Amino acid sequence: MKEIILIKNGELALKGLNRSTFEQALIKNLRRRLGEVGVFKYTAAQSTINVVPQSDDIDLDRAVEEVKKVFGVARFSRAAQAPKDIGAILDIAPVYLEKTLGSCATFKVESKRSDKSFPMTSPEISAAVGGRLLASFRNLKVNVRNPDVVVYVEIRDDYAYIHAGSVAGAGGLPVGTSGRACLLLSGGIDSPVAGYMTAKRGVSLCAVHFMSPPYTSVRAEKKVERLTEVLTAYAGDIHLYKVDFARTQELIRDLCPPELFTVISRRMMMRTATLIAEKENALALITGESIAQVASQTLSALACTEDAAGMPVLRPCIGLDKNEIVETSRKIGAFDISIEPYEDCCAIFTPKHPKTNPALADVRKAEEPLDVVSLAREAAEAAVMKKNSYIRKVELF
Ligand code: ATP
Ligand code: MG
Repeated sequence: MKEIILIKNGELALKGLNRSTFEQALIKNLRRRLGEVGVFKYTAAQSTINVVPQSDDIDLDRAVEEVKKVFGVARFSRAAQAPKDIGAILDIAPVYLEKTLGSCATFKVESKRSDKSFPMTSPEISAAVGGRLLASFRNLKVNVRNPDVVVYVEIRDDYAYIHAGSVAGAGGLPVGTSGRACLLLSGGIDSPVAGYMTAKRGVSLCAVHFMSPPYTSVRAEKKVERLTEVLTAYAGDIHLYKVDFARTQELIRDLCPPELFTVISRRMMMRTATLIAEKENALALITGESIAQVASQTLSALACTEDAAGMPVLRPCIGLDKNEIVETSRKIGAFDISIEPYEDCCAIFTPKHPKTNPALADVRKAEEPLDVVSLAREAAEAAVMKKNSYIRKVELF
């Protein structure tokens, strides 16, 4: 008996003319994601993608774990593939469903026939399969209103498929179908979540991390690399640019008012990240900011930050409470890394009393002693030159 994965691509089905482009992108991403598990054949029909193992030794449990991380998969199920012959379906159903049905009390069967040339109607198929399952499992009773398990029989163009229902996939859209954005990735909890949420809408990522050696350590840098690796599991390859920010921050410390240190640092981050993003053909920046979470994230502080960015700034965590961000962080496997206690460059030279509501005009004036354009350009160029990008095995989406 052959077991396959049926993928329902949900939102993609709504995309009309673009549908096949999206479907192809999803198949490409699935293929890359499952490449390490084995060779599969992918076919798309009726809003479903069939993922069919091409050898008997493929570990389908592992394949399912990978599928769960692929954006664009609304729901999926494991299913037995049977010849389109009622005798074969009746033989395979009890064997394939033994584990599921052996341990529950009630069930019903739902059949769907997209191949209308199949000689039985859907109710006839359901009745036949239901009868066979009742005969095979003495513990079972039919309950059409509220069954423990619904058994599905789908008669499609090529084969019949038998399964016990689908589970939710990662949702969203296939990465690479919505352009690219540049994530400002600190070592904290919020920015990896912001990257995950943006990738979920089909956006591919590059990332910029600002570090200030010798004030920040190599371990802090490694931590950001590991966070990037966590994100690649969902977002595909990510080029990580590590910007040496020490000189910029020293100049801000020496030449600008201390209470504006953080907001001016942020503005320099935006300018530098914009240049790197342009190099990567990214169309937006992404941050993990959430309104009023800290002093530098009040609306007036955000306005000052935004003013220095040369492209739109996406803030997918903006309306989330910390506990909601933490929940996602745990779900994607970033949390334990994010809470490791290594210093962030934002924490150095931090003033005792940062200004919570800085006025943009004051900040611009306070910045005047800095040559902001050259500083950003030099920092960005050095990061790009170093080619210290972090690239995972999976190719760029
Ligand atoms: P996070 O948990 O993402 O670090 P945070 O709550 O600590 O966020 P801040 O330190 O104020 O908030 O940073 C706000 C945002 O600015 C971060 O989410 C991130 O996008 C960006 N950022 C801060 N520090 C850095 C850094 N060292 N490198 C890159 N981006 C940074
Ligand atoms: Mg932080």
